Amino acid sequence: MILFSLFALVPLSALGAFSVQTAKELILNIVTNEVDHVARDKVELLKRWISERKADIAVVAGSSILSSTDPYVIAAYLELVRTNYRVYSGFAVFSRTGQLVYSTSADSPVPDGAEWFREALKGRLFMSDIFFDPERMDSFFLISAPLPEKTGDIARVICATVGTNTILSAILSVSLGRTGECYLVNREGMFLAHKEPHRILTENIAQSESFKNIFNARSNRITYIDYRGIEVIGSSSRVEGTDWALVVEQDRDEAFHAAGTLTRYISLVIAFSVLAALASAWLLSRYVAMPIHKLSTAADELAAGRYDPNLINTKRRDEIGLLLKAFADMAEKLRHREKDLETKVHLREAELKETGVELQKTQQAAVRSQQLASMGQLAAGVAHEIRTPLTSLKLFLESVESDIEVSTEFEEDFHVAMKQIKRMEDTINRFLDFARPQEPLFSDVCVEDLIKDALLVVGPRARQQETVIALDIKPSLPTVRGDRKQLCEVLVNLMVNALEAMVLRGDLKITACVQPFSNGEKQSEHVRIDIKDTGPGIAQEQIPKLFDPFFTTKATGTGLGLSIVLSIIQLHGGEVLVSSGEYRGATFSVIIPSAGKNKGKNDGKDTDS
Ligand code: ADP
Repeated sequence: MILFSLFALVPLSALGAFSVQTAKELILNIVTNEVDHVARDKVELLKRWISERKADIAVVAGSSILSSTDPYVIAAYLELVRTNYRVYSGFAVFSRTGQLVYSTSADSPVPDGAEWFREALKGRLFMSDIFFDPERMDSFFLISAPLPEKTGDIARVICATVGTNTILSAILSVSLGRTGECYLVNREGMFLAHKEPHRILTENIAQSESFKNIFNARSNRITYIDYRGIEVIGSSSRVEGTDWALVVEQDRDEAFHAAGTLTRYISLVIAFSVLAALASAWLLSRYVAMPIHKLSTAADELAAGRYDPNLINTKRRDEIGLLLKAFADMAEKLRHREKDLETKVHLREAELKETGVELQKTQQAAVRSQQLASMGQLAAGVAHEIRTPLTSLKLFLESVESDIEVSTEFEEDFHVAMKQIKRMEDTINRFLDFARPQEPLFSDVCVEDLIKDALLVVGPRARQQETVIALDIKPSLPTVRGDRKQLCEVLVNLMVNALEAMVLRGDLKITACVQPFSNGEKQSEHVRIDIKDTGPGIAQEQIPKLFDPFFTTKATGTGLGLSIVLSIIQLHGGEVLVSSGEYRGATFSVIIPSAGKNKGKNDGKDTDS
């Protein structure tokens, strides 16, 4: 706003000041020329008039009538001249000795010691300074001239008293506004003619700036302080042949009245322009600068993520309104995008957290696997070390049994010892099988045959504890590729666990079916065998530990059965699943890739035993 005002006002003020200055100079020139012109005209008029008066006296002095000794003759002549020329208030003729010969009026000038008389006697035409007669309220001056005889000697002197009223009233009246005036001063600084008669020959302006300006060429200034102490524009002109100067002056204030008016007008225009500039600047600031400032603040807020849509709420339909609306739309879209991004980031964070948990679990599992592997190695070493002396002990006891007769008192203890040794040997062998698994001998195996082989092993025990076994083998089952002995061991292990879980009575259901398997684009068939019991089931927290070696809940268990099952099935490229809950029984599922050949024998009917 300030800049706008400065740019608008500085040139305007300069133009105004220049106009006022030019107007003043112009007015000064015009007034100066005018007063100059008037002064020269008036001086010319006065000069001409004085010359005429001098010429009059010269003519009168040259008249032979004035040589007459008869005063009546002289009187008639001089009265005639006086009445014809009106400007003369009187004529007087004096003898060489100063005696009055004739005078047209009673108050004739006195020649004793008077300059006009002396000069005339010297044969020169003389004009005196002006003097003021308060009684007649008129100014006069004297013109004297010698009256020579025929011999050339000066016998008499004529002196005319000239009234200046007519000429001076013509000279003093000037049409220069209200304050324009014209006056006559002599070299001593006395007023000789002035529109105010009381100043004539009473006031001396020798010390005033006007006087210095009139008679001192070096201080010839256009404007100066006059005898009244007022600044005036003036011009003066000397009256040739006299010590007089005619001055024409006009008050500076009056002369510059027009310039003053112009200055007032220009000031008014500048004031109006200031107001207009301020109003324009205010409008510009309110309707352009402020909305743009708001927009910039909103952009900053948007960048800082604190954007408030109310900041640039507008109903304007002009370009600024369109700009604000475009910004608001953009901010809204950015806000939506930011929200989307935030949601995506949160999702990613949750995924990362999940992945982190999984990773942690995997790391824990890896550590545990490593610990188990070390433990397994150690245990395998120990088992190996124990098996040799155990075998020796077993052989020794067998030879003792055949060589010496064991008394009936110790026979039972002997058999218990043998049984325990055998059990220890079995456990060690199973452990060693697990620790150093045999390489599977692959062949196409019929799943139904496999299940029946396993049932042959566990059948006696099932019958012993009155367990009902149900078989559901789907027809046309494909064969599986695997080691028949190892796969049979897997099924036996799972069936024994199921029977052990049920203790007395219960239902054991064995199902075999095809399970489609998809590995990316590759589709294949797997065979699934489920072994389901009606035992107490497995607690959820125990399920992850089931396949760990040595995990057992049984008093005489080894905890190796499921570990061996898992390692054999993994060697066959399959997997083992468990589903159970407490008191709901347990289902162990073995899934093995099929060999693709159909060797199924079952007609699809369930078999119970
Ligand atoms: P063991 O039979 O020597 O205990 P396993 O590895 O075969 O070793 O089994 C480990 C544990 O799994 C068992 O102690 C038992 O707690 C649990 N288990 C396995 N099968 C079943 C089942 N069918 N029902 C309930 N628990 C089972």
